[in-house]
Amino acid sequence: MCAVASDYDLSQRTLQFLSSPRQQLIGGKWVDSASGQTFGVVDPATGEEVVQVARGNAADIDAAVAAARKAFESGPWHSMTPSERGKLIWKLGDLIESHARELAELETLDNGKPFAIAQAADVALAADQFRYYAGWATKLLGDSIPISVVYAPGTEWQAYSRREPIGVVGQIIPWNFPLLMAAWKLAPALTCGCTVVLKPAEQTPLSALYLGQLICEAGFPDGVVNIVNGFGEETGAPLASHPGVDKVAFTGSTEVGKLIVQAAAGNLKKVTLELGGKSPNVVFSDADLASAVPGAASAIFFNHGQCCAAGSRLFIEHSIFDDVVNGVAGAAKQIKVGSGFQADTQMGPLVSQEQFDRVTAFMEAGLAAGAEALAGGGRVGTRGYFVEPTVFVNTNHEMKIVREEIFGPVVTAMPFKDIDEIAAVANNTNYGLASGIWTKDISKAHKLAKRLRAGTVWINCYNIFDAALPFGGYKESGWGREMGHEALNNYLETKAVCIQL
Ligand code: ADP
Repeated sequence: MCAVASDYDLSQRTLQFLSSPRQQLIGGKWVDSASGQTFGVVDPATGEEVVQVARGNAADIDAAVAAARKAFESGPWHSMTPSERGKLIWKLGDLIESHARELAELETLDNGKPFAIAQAADVALAADQFRYYAGWATKLLGDSIPISVVYAPGTEWQAYSRREPIGVVGQIIPWNFPLLMAAWKLAPALTCGCTVVLKPAEQTPLSALYLGQLICEAGFPDGVVNIVNGFGEETGAPLASHPGVDKVAFTGSTEVGKLIVQAAAGNLKKVTLELGGKSPNVVFSDADLASAVPGAASAIFFNHGQCCAAGSRLFIEHSIFDDVVNGVAGAAKQIKVGSGFQADTQMGPLVSQEQFDRVTAFMEAGLAAGAEALAGGGRVGTRGYFVEPTVFVNTNHEMKIVREEIFGPVVTAMPFKDIDEIAAVANNTNYGLASGIWTKDISKAHKLAKRLRAGTVWINCYNIFDAALPFGGYKESGWGREMGHEALNNYLETKAVCIQL
C-alpha cells in the first residue's frame, strides 16, 4: 500500500485489507490471476496509485465459470432449502452493516465519493438489498394451473409451474456505485439459487473484493459467488460471450450494452441491461420552489452527476425560469468540492482521468457551441479529478451537451411553455431511464407521469431508490428491471409440469 492510503485516517480493518494481497475469488479460494498480472487502483482525489489488484483474463473467467457451474449443479448450494438460502443472504446484509466503515472507506478511496454519503447511502442500501431479497427466497411461487387439453376429451390432468434458477450468471458492473451495484446484482441472483461470476469495474475493484470476504465469512458454499477483476475487453467480454454462462446482467454504458448483446448471441444467453440516461427533470411554475430548487440541484450533482438516472436536462416553466436556474446555479456554487475523506466535502472528484477528460471535454464543447455557464464550467485545482458543478443556459436541442449523456455534474437548463410541449421535449431522447416532475398540482403530475417514456418518474423528489422499487429503462436505457419482485424474473426460468391422471 502506498502513502496515499495511509494519509487518511482509515480503520485497522481497511488498512489490513489494503496490505493483504488482493486476489480473485474462484471456487471459494483467493487466487492470483492466471497470468500473474495485476493492475493499479488509483485514488481519484490525488491521481496516485493506492494498491495493485489481480488482473483477470479469459482463463480466469473460464475457471470462475467452471467453479460456478460445479456449485450450481452439485454440492450444498444445489440442495440447500430456500429458508437456509434466505438466512445466508440475510446474514450477508448484517455483515455489510457491521463492516459499514470499511466498505465506505474503500468506496471513498476508490471512487472518490464523500465518506459520509458512502456510508449512509451506498452501504446502507447494499445491506438493505440483501435483506429485502432474503425474504423472497421462500416465496418463489409457481402456479397450480387448471388445463383443458381440448383435443383429448374425457381426460383428466394436473398441471403446475415451477420457478427454477436460471443457472450460472455473469454480472458486469460499473464504477459509480461499486458496492451497491454488486448488491443490486448479487442479491436477487442468489435468492433465486443461481451461482455468479461477478466482474467489477476496473476503476473500482476494492469494495467487491471486501464483499467477497464477507460472502466467505457468511458461509456461502464455495463457487456460489466468484469475483474476477479486470478490464472490459479482457475480462468482461469473455464473460459475456462464455458458452457456460446462462445469463448475463450488465450495468454500464449503452455503447457497451450493445456489445454485450452481440457477445451473448453465441449461446443465446438471457440478457438484462441497465444502461445510460439523459433524464428530464421538469419544474412547473406551481412547484414548491423551496424544495424544487435544491431538489433539481441534487438531481444532477448527487454522486458528482455520475448516476445513470441523473436529472441532467432541467426544464423550467417560462415564468419561473430565472428564479429556478439562478437558484440551482447558486446551489452549485455553494457545493464544497474536495477529498471524500474531508468531513465538510459535499462533492468529491470524478472517478478517473478518463472520466475527467470526458466531462471537461463536454464542458468545453458546451461553451464552444454558445452555451453559457451560470455556474462552473471547468476543473477545480490542479491535482486529482475535481470539476466544478456546472449549470448551462442558452442551450438548444442540437447541442451535444443536451443530447448526450455526460455522466458528470453538468446540467443543461431550458424553459418550456406547457405540459404538451414538455411531454414531447422530455421524451425527445434515445434514453428512457428516469424523470422528475415538480408541481403542487397532483393531476398535472399524474398526467405528465403517464406520458413520460421512462422507467422511473419521481414526483416532488429525485434519486429515491428502494430495494422494493423496480428500476430500469425504456428505449436505449436497457432491458428488464432490477430491484423489487420484478428482478426475480431475471434469474428464474419457468417450468410447466403436466400430469395425466
Ligand atoms: P463507463 O463508460 O461508464 O466506464 P462501461 O460501460 O465502459 O462504463 O463499463 C461498465 C462495465 O462494463 C465495466 O465493468 C467494464 O469493465 C465493462 N466492460 C467494458 N467493455 C466491455 C466489453 N466489451 N464487454 C464486457 N464488459 C465490458
